Amino acid sequence: MAKRLHCGCCGADFRTWKGYVDQDQDKGYGICRKCQDLMEEDNNAKLDDLRGKIREALNEKNRTKWDTYDLETQRSLAIKCIEDGLVTFAFSPTHMERLGLGQSTHLARGARDES
Ligand SMILES: [Zn+2]
Repeated sequence: MAKRLHCGCCGADFRTWKGYVDQDQDKGYGICRKCQDLMEEDNNAKLDDLRGKIREALNEKNRTKWDTYDLETQRSLAIKCIEDGLVTFAFSPTHMERLGLGQSTHLARGARDES
């Protein structure tokens, strides 16, 4: 059933959609589709950057093997490298900056100087 939630990222009110997965710990909050798309885009860009770094770090034999993997497999392996602690990865707030927000309105609320 569709719920009305407040996006903890851009601050917009939105309706959940079929297949929506709760993205926020706080009641009444979630992440809207636009922000989810931007985050995914941002994460994929980071993963693609990481894919390049992993490829560079491989020896010739493994690089040849790596090149036979499709994009999704390479991204999954890049994620596995992060999970295994082989590389560190930070989710950046660039998608919020693109939305014109320095930081999450959710986090900024209350901390904002109203003067
Ligand atoms: Zn949003």
